Amino acid sequence: MDVQTTQIHVFSDASLKGYGACCYLRQVGKDGTVHTMLLFGKSRVAPLKPVTIPRLKRRAAVIAVRISKLVNRELKLSFDEMYFWCDSQIVLGYMANESKIFHMYVANMIHEIYQNSSPSQWHYVKSKDNPADMASRGASVDELINLSWLSGPDFLKEHDVKAYMEANNVNRKIEEHDPKVKPVKVLKTSAAALNIAHKFLKYSTFNGLVKSLAILQKAARKKTWKSVSATAEDMQETEVLAIKRTQEINFQEEIQTLKENKSVRKDSTIATLNPYLDKQSILRVGGRLHRADITTDEKCPMIVLMYSHLAKLLVRHHHHRIHHLGRRSTLAATREAGYWIISGASTVKSTISDCIACSKLRKLLQEQLMGDLPAERVQRTSLFSHVGMDVFGPYHVRERRSTLKHYGLIFMFLYSSAVHIKMLDDLSTDSFINALRCLTAIRGHVTTLYSGNATNFVGAKNLFDRELERVSDPKMQKYLLDYRITFKNNTPESSHQEGAWERLIRSAKAVLNGMAINYKERIDSQTLKLHSMKWQAY
Ligand SMILES: [Zn+2]
Repeated sequence: MDVQTTQIHVFSDASLKGYGACCYLRQVGKDGTVHTMLLFGKSRVAPLKPVTIPRLKRRAAVIAVRISKLVNRELKLSFDEMYFWCDSQIVLGYMANESKIFHMYVANMIHEIYQNSSPSQWHYVKSKDNPADMASRGASVDELINLSWLSGPDFLKEHDVKAYMEANNVNRKIEEHDPKVKPVKVLKTSAAALNIAHKFLKYSTFNGLVKSLAILQKAARKKTWKSVSATAEDMQETEVLAIKRTQEINFQEEIQTLKENKSVRKDSTIATLNPYLDKQSILRVGGRLHRADITTDEKCPMIVLMYSHLAKLLVRHHHHRIHHLGRRSTLAATREAGYWIISGASTVKSTISDCIACSKLRKLLQEQLMGDLPAERVQRTSLFSHVGMDVFGPYHVRERRSTLKHYGLIFMFLYSSAVHIKMLDDLSTDSFINALRCLTAIRGHVTTLYSGNATNFVGAKNLFDRELERVSDPKMQKYLLDYRITFKNNTPESSHQEGAWERLIRSAKAVLNGMAINYKERIDSQTLKLHSMKWQAY
């Protein structure tokens, strides 16, 4: 047979038992003979979970296009035409749809069908003419042989298939309330006038805010961003604009009332300020200084809401400008600049408390936790047994025509803080030993001496040790050993260990200096000179 046209016809159908599709080759000879045969069939059992028939029919349609793809790929024959047949008007409606949006599951299926076929290839077939019906319901062997499963439906054997198509043309519109169609939401938006003050929160400095605003305004006027920079005049203009925009948000009701030439409500936060709107519609403090010979900003400052972001920026700006002065100065600087912040004192207080520089400058120093006092300071012993000592001075003392340097030597009894002061002619070891002898003669035996690391004290200890070594008389040695004075040098570079008697030196000096002035013996303005003064304090 000479073949004139070769066509592929794919049928799909579904029932509650299952769904499937089958594919037929149709060849028309030049002599008009028609030959049809089954190429491929496929069926699936319906899911256990009950689903609707239209849904199964959609899945059958998907199988139909997959079969067509397979046949196309495997058969390696050139086909003139390919037809898809389906007995569901709903599925055909989905294929023909161009405007509605489906839910995701249906949309994915339709997408796959569209990828492998075009809507014009899909046609309606009556259920009785649909051979895929057997794939969906199942059939016995006899039925398979007798019925149209193997050879295809009768209308395929006719010469003109298109006549069947035209006779069975159906409406392919989707119903208005099809549950598979996704409802479309239409959102209507309207643009309202935007107050730029909402953007101020992004700025942490007042200058940064004003500068950005100035550049933005200038760029808007020029309608370009190229070579736009802010001048001092722009900054001044924008500063006022920033206040105005903020006021429009914070004092909306008050501004509206004043525009209507009415008084603001008595419970308003700014009622006591007697506010008014100036020519630029900026809310200012009324006050009683209208006749004063000062600038308007000073007479009638602009009102700023307490704790607002702009108020904080303003306070921070002026606080930095006056180099971190205190609350009063910062508040005064803000008012001088022409801003009246409501509850300004507390706004300034909270802003300064957040200022890192101020917290560094005014922070209380941390103090060392003091350790326990040494036993000598708190255990009762005989008078002047444990003694701390130190040298202070020099004092310039005039003897006849010469001026000599003299020093004071302070002994402090560690338990009771009793003080004994001796005068040292110089800082030699001999001089110190003399003073120590005097102390022991008057006050009694000293067992332990605490001192700093002054050279004369270290020398005395060495001398004592040497003298003791020289003593050969056992009685004398026993006596000295019995009355031996133990020297304890404090740790080098740790003057705090001598704090107790260092403090008494200060008191002793104050008394001595006072005595010298009382005696009107002060001659030189630079140095204190005591005229042959023989002093001894107890
Ligand atoms: Zn500060």
